[in-house]
Amino acid sequence: MPGKEKTSPALGETPPSSERFFRKLASSVPGVLFTYQVSADGQSHRFPFISDRVRDLFGIDPELLQGDAASMFTLIAEEDREGIEASIILSSKTLSPWCYQARMRERSGQLQWYEATSIPEQQADGSIIWYGQFINIDHYKALEQNLRKSEEEASYQARFQQMIAALSAEFIHLGFSTIDECIDQLLQAIGEFFQVDRAYVYAFADNFSKMTNTHEWCREGVTAVRESQQEVDVSGFAWWQAQIRGMIEQDKVVFVEDASALPAEAAEEKHLLQSQGVQSMICAPIIVRGQVMGFFGVDSLSLRPWRRDQSHLMIIVSGLLSGALERNQLEEELVSRSIRDPLTGLYNRRYLLPRMEEMLAACNRYGEKFCVVMFDIDHFKRINDSFGHLMGDKILQRFTALLNECSRTTDVVSRFGGEEFIVVFAGVNQSDVAGLTARIFQSVREEAFDCAGTTLRFTVSAGAVCVSELTEQPVTPEALISFADERLYRAKESGRNCLVDAFGVSRI
Ligand code: GH3
Ligand code: MG
Ligand code: MG
Repeated sequence: MPGKEKTSPALGETPPSSERFFRKLASSVPGVLFTYQVSADGQSHRFPFISDRVRDLFGIDPELLQGDAASMFTLIAEEDREGIEASIILSSKTLSPWCYQARMRERSGQLQWYEATSIPEQQADGSIIWYGQFINIDHYKALEQNLRKSEEEASYQARFQQMIAALSAEFIHLGFSTIDECIDQLLQAIGEFFQVDRAYVYAFADNFSKMTNTHEWCREGVTAVRESQQEVDVSGFAWWQAQIRGMIEQDKVVFVEDASALPAEAAEEKHLLQSQGVQSMICAPIIVRGQVMGFFGVDSLSLRPWRRDQSHLMIIVSGLLSGALERNQLEEELVSRSIRDPLTGLYNRRYLLPRMEEMLAACNRYGEKFCVVMFDIDHFKRINDSFGHLMGDKILQRFTALLNECSRTTDVVSRFGGEEFIVVFAGVNQSDVAGLTARIFQSVREEAFDCAGTTLRFTVSAGAVCVSELTEQPVTPEALISFADERLYRAKESGRNCLVDAFGVSRI
């Protein structure tokens, strides 16, 4: 009963001498011992007994609490209050032990974690008394939090490594045509992992004076900026130019935590970032064969304090990109070298034949017609003999340029042999081929080489065949080429400087 400790219901049957002994004992334990009573109607609550430590720790008189527990509850951190009340109600209903952790404001004003453990007991008058204690567990909470943080950190690092390993595997198995898809996948994976709004790759050009956004990933709902970021002239961006120098000279990672806090010389950059909604960003250089070729970056549309090791993580990702791009560049060069003729840069047979296979497949499936025209320079041996091989080479190169000028990107222009060339005109039928070939003949006629005072002119002969002319299945590239070759032979027989196609000899 409040104010009358001797008859306190919590220690009701304890003789006074034992009670003194008990109080002494209670005051020596680090926690606060208590009995807590809630009346049968649930309208009042009090601490019939609470050890004196409550005064030292919380600055509340135990006698006050004996009458009303309310002042103890005011010390509980607001966000924990509702949970405590619900757990007390649950314990009173089920009579199961009550155990709860909450932050409480100590006498010093500090919030500290406390844990209460107690056992409820129903009384004859319907009230419930809990017997228990609460002790300071702040130290354990701090340990627990540190442990959780380091577990989270370890799991973050492990997930990052897993993602990098998966992306590396992706890059290792990539075919030549899928590097772009692989980069797009990488940007998405990194963007989602870092929880940013954009992830992108830029390539520098013209001695770092221009940059182009080549790949971009945007979180759903975020506006893409790639289209507006093509061949961007960086001369107006003084601050950014200094950052580029840092990337080139020191492999520096560029960090922007708050775009609005950029220095005064970055006014233009600030404006650009604002127009893209960017508040924070990081960019790391991409280095291919020892040269910075561009950078990889991420944008956040909200203010973002980056992790301390973020630059390290960015360098790992840009290293992965650098390796993949370098390997791809080497492979492309290798492939290009094996399928192109070094003198003219035109495709050779190694490319032409499989390409014609593809065109035949498209023709069978979708009816896409094409024509094969074989050109041979007339009396080329004589040119070589009279003007030298170097002059001969020049003519081959000039004729190549004419072929390229007179064809479209969908056509295949190739050097088939010494002075024999094959052009595959895509989407063309036999009625169109004479017109297309005539343009080439015409430009050859207009060519005049000045060679040691004499004007050198040359002519060509051609044999053409359209895929629709070959009715016997299956049509092969070889069959088409030998058909064109036969007609070319007839053109030579017919006096050169002419075309033989399905309609016979024509002097075009
Ligand atoms: P035709 O009108 O019947 O075609 O006579 P042609 O002299 O052009 O034919 P031929 O096939 O007898 O000669 C082709 C010449 O092309 C022989 C070869 O030395 C020359 N040639 C082949 N490749 C090259 C090259 O890369 N450079 C130079 N300069 N000449 C080459
Ligand atoms: Mg010839
Ligand atoms: Mg020849």
